[in-house]
Amino acid sequence: MASSALGPRVLLRRLREVMAEPEAAQQRLDKIVTLIAANMVAEVCSIYVMRPGNILELYASEGLKREAVHKSKLKVGEGLVGLIGEQAIGLSLSEAQDHPSFKYLPETGEEIYHSFLGVPVMRGGTVIGVLVVQNRTQRHYTDEEEEALQTTAMVLAEVMASGELKEMARETAIDVAQVRSHHLRVEALADGIALGHVVLHEPRVRIQNMIAESIPAEIIRLDEGVEQLRAQVDELLDGHDTDRTTDYSDVLETIRMFAHDKGWLNRLKEAVETGLTAEAAVERVQNDNRARMQRMQDEYLRERMHDLDDLSNRLLRILTGAVATASRTDLPQNSIVVSRNMGPAELLDYDRTKIRGVILEEGGKTSHVAIVARALGIPAIGLAVGILNLVDTGDEIIVDGSTGEIFVRPTSELQKSYAEKVRFYAKKQERFTALRDQPALTKDGQTISLNINAGLTVDMPHLHESGADGVGLYRTELHFMMAQRFPRLSAQVRHYQSILDQAQGKPVTFRTLDIGADKTLPYLRQPREENPALGWRSIRMAMDRPALLRLQARAMLIAGSGQDLKIMFPMIADVQEYEMARDAVMYEHMFLAKHGHTVPRSLKIGVMIEIPSLLWQLDQLLPLVDFASIGSNDLVQFLFASDRGNPKLAGRYDPLSPAALGAMRQIVAKAKQHNKTVTLCGELGGRPLEAMGLVGVGLTSMSMVPSGVGPVKAMIRTLDQAKLWKFMEPLLSSPVHSLRGDLMEFAQRNGVEI
Ligand code: PEP
Ligand code: MG
Repeated sequence: MASSALGPRVLLRRLREVMAEPEAAQQRLDKIVTLIAANMVAEVCSIYVMRPGNILELYASEGLKREAVHKSKLKVGEGLVGLIGEQAIGLSLSEAQDHPSFKYLPETGEEIYHSFLGVPVMRGGTVIGVLVVQNRTQRHYTDEEEEALQTTAMVLAEVMASGELKEMARETAIDVAQVRSHHLRVEALADGIALGHVVLHEPRVRIQNMIAESIPAEIIRLDEGVEQLRAQVDELLDGHDTDRTTDYSDVLETIRMFAHDKGWLNRLKEAVETGLTAEAAVERVQNDNRARMQRMQDEYLRERMHDLDDLSNRLLRILTGAVATASRTDLPQNSIVVSRNMGPAELLDYDRTKIRGVILEEGGKTSHVAIVARALGIPAIGLAVGILNLVDTGDEIIVDGSTGEIFVRPTSELQKSYAEKVRFYAKKQERFTALRDQPALTKDGQTISLNINAGLTVDMPHLHESGADGVGLYRTELHFMMAQRFPRLSAQVRHYQSILDQAQGKPVTFRTLDIGADKTLPYLRQPREENPALGWRSIRMAMDRPALLRLQARAMLIAGSGQDLKIMFPMIADVQEYEMARDAVMYEHMFLAKHGHTVPRSLKIGVMIEIPSLLWQLDQLLPLVDFASIGSNDLVQFLFASDRGNPKLAGRYDPLSPAALGAMRQIVAKAKQHNKTVTLCGELGGRPLEAMGLVGVGLTSMSMVPSGVGPVKAMIRTLDQAKLWKFMEPLLSSPVHSLRGDLMEFAQRNGVEI
């Protein structure tokens, strides 16, 4: 192959002409290979297309024997073509037959060709074909030639993906992954089931014009686009975008670095020089990056490549004028939003009447977006690695937020069965709604107070919808986590006031800041710790930064002026800590009263029992508190020394065990002795069987996720508490690992609705 005399620009122009002609796909491909061979002065040019089953099939060839077309097939990893398909990299050889992967296909008659240059045809980071040129002579292809072939491959990818080939073989499956059904079981973030259609949070940009009319004009467009991109990233970093998290700031920092990276910009320019439009050049370089990303072993580096991918997408949107996110577009009725990740504010931006589910490639259970999804009652799934490569806009999809399952393009049977599930779920919800105004009273006359846990303003409507008695735990840190900077006194006052207003007289228990471990503030530097769950967190931080607690207490007292106010402290480890925290609140109370402010009508101060050391100080502590609340999430984690967020340990120890239930029983008994109310506000309270076990050990007040109120009330109304206690008492001193089976059996035998 003599150096491509005409250059890629001429080739691209000719390709455009061929693409514009009304022609059958096979003829078009035949013309394309002839054109490429002529332009690159090669004796052979062949196109292999990826077929279902990871087979690369020869679809068109200039130079190889005609009869080999549609007959020659290579598995991915087999032969030189298969190797390119597997590794998604170009291969340039002066003597192909010496390569260990070379596989001779007699039907092609290729034995007379020695040199070989092949490149992958990529789309969205996936190999959809391989483009090859061959020459009789043993020659070394230049970098420019390889570059030219890659640019050609990109245009070819457009031809292949634009439906051109569909008429040739129905299931040509340009991207095989994107037509098949898939089933994933990953991380359940928010309960509920939804059937709907995929909406990509960041819609893919479809490039209309691949081939440049004028290269200097495209260079100018690229430069202008990059300028805009840099300004956009700077603006984001300067905090003009609200409600972002620390992690996101880190991502933006990296993105800014990439936006100024000379290497990346040079590669973009080089791609334009080969004859592509600015946007096509971005995609071309993005394809290379994606291929590299897939080969990367190092998790950290892969992450950074992901960030570069984000940046390329931003630039593509600037160049093509495409929308940034789908939230403001015309959404289908049953939208399931799929995204790599998103901030909580971005989720709140969607029309809630249309969004049915959320799937994230990254977000875990404790991510803020997961908290918001739960608050909105939108089924959500996280850690769905690779989902973006499997779906496209409009695909049918099922999200099961109770099991963490995703069904992409489900079969009609599966859709029917899930539609039935949704109906069943809705019916159940209807039944629970009917219970809304019924008392939570056991069969033997014990009233159980049912409350909701909240942490955002969007949670508050659930208080009235669920018929709960009040907010048993208001996690104030969520407001802090979503802010850009430490909320000032006035902002805090406004927030607490709005919560009290929305509660319409029902009691609200505010918990002071519980920061640390998995909850971080973007604007607060926290030292790296070996064991953050056991580290400088929560009330410990408040002890060392008293102004923080005092400011918050003042805000709560002002917000609650003239009303009943309840405040409690998290992560208290001993009596002295409680006293110090209480004194800080009382100091503020005194201060406000002295300065003529209206203080709350009543102020109740409580302690959260989440650290086991308190179990041995209850006689000293309880006389000092107005109420106690068991934070069972933490209490159980510390009792069993078992990280509550570690999926490997999930389910290993059972809160329905003699040890954990014994601890709860002890707290309940001591509270009774000291005439103090005790509530439980961990996740346990929201699950009917667990809640039954808790009622069994004497607990009469619980706070839970709003969706738990109905099912737990249904359980309570079918339960005989005294009978359960008689059943449980001997079991609590048994040496078993768990009482779950026994409790289940009790429920079944006695018609308790679980
Ligand atoms: C708990 O630990 O049970 C609790 C309610 O607090 P959080 O889940 O916010 O730590
Ligand atoms: Mg806790």
